[in-house]
Amino acid sequence: MFCEKCGKEVNDEAIVCVGCGCSLKSTTESDVNKEPLSGGVKFLSFCFPIVGGILYFVHQNSAPQKSKDACSAALWGFGVGILLNILAAVGGGM
Ligand SMILES: [Zn+2]
Repeated sequence: MFCEKCGKEVNDEAIVCVGCGCSLKSTTESDVNKEPLSGGVKFLSFCFPIVGGILYFVHQNSAPQKSKDACSAALWGFGVGILLNILAAVGGGM
């Protein structure tokens, strides 16, 4: 792998960079929850984008992966909701 700070190639197992001495094992890696959002919650965020939005802010710091999943689920739900509204409007107008 390569050092993020100086770009020097270092051993994958290295803990500190031989080039600049910075820590390679990000301190956030161990204490940050990388679990993905569970399917049920994702579905909920999809159906109710507001839930996804709230989860996005709730998990933003503690569980970035959950936050990201909630955000994308909410965006998808939001997009599909708008699409359905447009379809309904077009369909109703005809
Ligand atoms: Zn470095």
